[in-house]
Amino acid sequence: MRQIDFQQKSNKTGKNLLSAEETKRLGLDRPITRRDFIKVITVGAASLMVPGCSGLTPDPTFDLNSPPNPTSPSGNVYFGGNTEDARSVCHQVRDGRHFSRGAESTGEIYDLVVIGAGLGGLTSAYFYNQERPGEKILLLDNHVDFGGDAQRNELTVKGQRIIVTQGCDYQWEIDSEYRAVKKLWADLDIDLSSIEFVPEAYQDHMFINDEWIRDFWETGYNSASSPWSKKVQDDYDAFWEIMGSFKWSPWPKAKASLAELDKISFKEWMEDVNGWDPQLTHLIDMWVRSDYGAGADTLSTACAFWNYSGGGESDNYKWPGGMSGFARYLVNALIPVALNGRDIITGEIDYNALDRSENNIRIRLESTVVDVNHERSAENAKNVLVNFINGGKLYRLRAKSVIMAGGGYMAKHIVTDLPQEQKEAYDKFHYSAYMVANVWINNSRALDKLNFGYSGGIWNPRIANYVTIADGITEEGNDPNRDPERPNCITLWCPQLPDPEFEGDYEEQTKRARAKLNSTSFEDFEILIRQELLDVFGDAGFDPAEDIEGIAINRWGHAEVICYPGFAFGSGSSDEPTPGVPIYDAGQRFGRITFAHTDLNGFADNQGTTRISHRAVKELLD
Ligand SMILES: Cc1cc2nc3c(=O)[nH]c(=O)nc-3n(C[C@H](O)[C@H](O)[C@H](O)COP(=O)(O)OP(=O)(O)OC[C@H]3O[C@@H](n4cnc5c(N)ncnc54)[C@H](O)[C@@H]3O)c2cc1C
Repeated sequence: MRQIDFQQKSNKTGKNLLSAEETKRLGLDRPITRRDFIKVITVGAASLMVPGCSGLTPDPTFDLNSPPNPTSPSGNVYFGGNTEDARSVCHQVRDGRHFSRGAESTGEIYDLVVIGAGLGGLTSAYFYNQERPGEKILLLDNHVDFGGDAQRNELTVKGQRIIVTQGCDYQWEIDSEYRAVKKLWADLDIDLSSIEFVPEAYQDHMFINDEWIRDFWETGYNSASSPWSKKVQDDYDAFWEIMGSFKWSPWPKAKASLAELDKISFKEWMEDVNGWDPQLTHLIDMWVRSDYGAGADTLSTACAFWNYSGGGESDNYKWPGGMSGFARYLVNALIPVALNGRDIITGEIDYNALDRSENNIRIRLESTVVDVNHERSAENAKNVLVNFINGGKLYRLRAKSVIMAGGGYMAKHIVTDLPQEQKEAYDKFHYSAYMVANVWINNSRALDKLNFGYSGGIWNPRIANYVTIADGITEEGNDPNRDPERPNCITLWCPQLPDPEFEGDYEEQTKRARAKLNSTSFEDFEILIRQELLDVFGDAGFDPAEDIEGIAINRWGHAEVICYPGFAFGSGSSDEPTPGVPIYDAGQRFGRITFAHTDLNGFADNQGTTRISHRAVKELLD
């Protein structure tokens, strides 16, 4: 039940008017561990302001401005979302500042430089090294840890170390169709059975009309406690019937259907074509936002079919700390001394070992690449010049080849000799904003009382439309028998929420959502987080003032690319995009540079990222 209606308690200036009693009830005055790495920007538009928070006791552990310690990211040190340094330099580049003049040469020359050490960059380096062992590779990344949005947050509560993801959480499937993906997982020798997600873990409850309905997607929607009318329940059944019966062969026929479906949004298809109730769209929209960061009103129906028409069932794999585990497997294969035999998931990384001159493969963190261009023309150049900022200083090095693995939002700005048409193709990429909040709790008694399992949706969220529990996903592995007395972590998934004023307008929606993400203070997010948890778990005894031990906020300004109608498929095309489709036009090899970031897959997932990385390496070596 909504126990404090915060939204109604703000005045016209957006200033929060929580009383001292309410502040105490939420536990805002309690010193806990708080982590965030973005200084908040003030934006002019009043409509973008989230009520401010006044009167909070400054917390001695609040780490907003102090730099993290890159040599020791274990223990109670967090890295959260985009960092302030990375963001501010990148935005200067976006705004047209040129950085290459006056760069000090490091004297280095590499066979390959990979820009970005997220899963795309690490996988590209791995594939390249498989083909050309012994060649020199450098990965440059602007974060304090490798992994991109698959980095981790961790905190030790009551002696128990709990590791959770900052973003990328599961491997959704390892599809035999994509041989490179299957081979990669086999080569890395990952024991899938130990990380397979047990079906009981998916109970997907729904908090709707102030109560939790169990297993809403499978059995709850038409149970006695469902708030849905018979019509909506029938619409839901019809939805799955269509999704389940879509024929993928013969391929030319499927392709023609997809071309038609790519002309309209998923919401239009559901409501205008099928006449289904908007409540059904609301439910599917929650799912779409989890996967794409933005809603059904912006998603191409072809893209939705591509992902959901298999029936929604797939094998899922997850480590403690989500896909940071996969990043660690890759780093262990590329630079074995970094873990030196320690446990891949829980072992301490020797960050000093990542960038040693004796390594053939090196990872240089906290290095923001600001300018990449061919030395002479792209056709004749023997080298690419790579300029980057590290420790406030501008450096330059040379690479025989470059793979851009940091996202189209930056590739178009920093590859300064990129042809205009390719830049324009990248201009058609739009990204959702996403916040992932991890909240460590010292017990999970309330969740136990609700028999909560693993995850649940929130029908009318303040901020998070989905919550998951680290559950038994702890250092020891999967343990469905959660001990309610043991500390745990709740992850609040906060994609951009519906923006009815700009329905279907992905450009405006993403701009506004990003501005809100960047302008909301930690304190304001903390209030919303605490209230959300009180709303949904308060009746079962959750006490935000006593139960919360730490909060980390991860802000992803360019989280997931929006697969809007025409973005990835295009009229008459298929999963193999053709000229004229943005992902095709943007992803073309340019001279000695290829492109390997997840958005070129049209859908941000790791399987697609692997495919794109494989292609980028192949293009370089062909
Ligand atoms: C909140 C969230 C949840 C997700 N959950 C899942 C999931 O559960 N499963 C799944 O398969 N996928 C998930 N994804 C999709 C995920 O993004 C991809 O699977 C994949 O991790 C992306 O890898 P990437 O290397 O292309 O991009 P990123 O992870 O974004 O890595 C790019 C790296 O390049 C760096 N970089 C950018 N510009 C520069 C520069 N100029 N100089 C130096 N470095 C630079 C970035 O800082 C970053 O570290 C999720 C995404 C988000 C945002």
